[in-house]
Amino acid sequence: MTSVLVGSPAGNVAGAGPRVEPAPAVRLRREPYGYLAYVGQRDHFFAVGDAGAAVLRAAEAGSAGRPAGPDAPAPWEAPDGREAAETLARFGVIRPAARGAPAVAEEPHHGISLLGSFTGVPEVDRPLVVNCFATASCPLRCRYCYADDLMGPVPGRGRRDRVEAVAEMAAAVPAMVAVITGGEPLSRPAQTRALIDALGGPKSIVLDTSGVGGIEDLVPVLLRFGVHLRVSLDSLDPAANDLLRPLAGRHRGELAPSGTAAVTALRVAAEAGLSTTVQTVVTSANDSPEALLRTRDALVARGVRNWVLHALVPAGKAAAARNAVLRPRPDVRQVLAELVARSVADGTPLNIRVTGGAGARNAALLIGSDGRLYVEEDRRGKVPIAAPGDPTAQVLAAFRREVSGTGHAGRYLNGTLQPFNHRLVRAPFGAETQGAR
Ligand code: SF4
Repeated sequence: MTSVLVGSPAGNVAGAGPRVEPAPAVRLRREPYGYLAYVGQRDHFFAVGDAGAAVLRAAEAGSAGRPAGPDAPAPWEAPDGREAAETLARFGVIRPAARGAPAVAEEPHHGISLLGSFTGVPEVDRPLVVNCFATASCPLRCRYCYADDLMGPVPGRGRRDRVEAVAEMAAAVPAMVAVITGGEPLSRPAQTRALIDALGGPKSIVLDTSGVGGIEDLVPVLLRFGVHLRVSLDSLDPAANDLLRPLAGRHRGELAPSGTAAVTALRVAAEAGLSTTVQTVVTSANDSPEALLRTRDALVARGVRNWVLHALVPAGKAAAARNAVLRPRPDVRQVLAELVARSVADGTPLNIRVTGGAGARNAALLIGSDGRLYVEEDRRGKVPIAAPGDPTAQVLAAFRREVSGTGHAGRYLNGTLQPFNHRLVRAPFGAETQGAR
């Protein structure tokens, strides 16, 4: 992790020292309890209350050029404010607005999301994330694909990509982050570029990709909008990765296979200075503690600083009987908890986040390549709730009616992350509440 600077009592005598400001690529949104902070470098949300919210209010005021008067005490001068400011700096949320203050080294947060005295994951009434299909086509045929019901042509329905409709729909969704996904966005680079161009700025952007097709041509637009690159990679053994994530027959010999393409994307991103996450689906093929530790160390060596692990759940293609063999070991959550605990003890410079299992239904928003907004519903699968042309007020009403406010928040804050329910990671200020949901 790089180092950042933050104000401290020694450097902040009655407002004379450096002020703090949101770190680069941080997006803030006011909430009843304080703030939601999205840290683009980490592709991570923090809910911030109490003293941390006071620090962020000061940071916002500073960045807006409205510093407090010379006699006003800085929020980080009180003991709890100092602890809050240091935690926010360690987790990449703030930095000083002036040089010369003591350094606070950034550290992994390992999925911690609640900074303050919360009693549970705070509900949201506006979306955090909207997933946007750049295309319904994908050159891969992953054995566990969850998106195949929105991919490819539908007999009789003539499904085709309508990227302008996707952009129009996404603009009407008041989310902080747009994840450009698919299908494989790199299989339609012009459409992907158009979506990033349309949505970058008002929203933080994540590009969700296998790397197949190559990211090189997109690097300028990714840099221009500070896009976070999220690369899917299940094994650094190319043959093992390709078995889980094979190319469709007609693309073999024409495109680099998934194992090679993902590693190439990580190299290109590291050379360009793009922030990256690797996301791994944990299956029977990669769920041993030894395999996970090998992957962890290899990712660190490649400059990756964020690793998201999804234990396979029997949904989508993974629910098919022929894929039952992919199901991970019964104690996979404990294995992943121990991986996090060991990484904390080792001081590994890698954020490891473990997503929740089944149960976060009615939680995710997704714009299909037809431009319609869907929610993943308990029994009915992906259900359309809004269409391009609907005004934001109508879209927001549909969100509040159809989407679980706690489910949506829990998906992106850490309420669903099992390892932290066992307090394997020390809590930051006031975070007594990594409780089970
Ligand atoms: S990359 Fe794999 S999981 Fe993603 S859409 Fe294509 S087939 Fe599905």
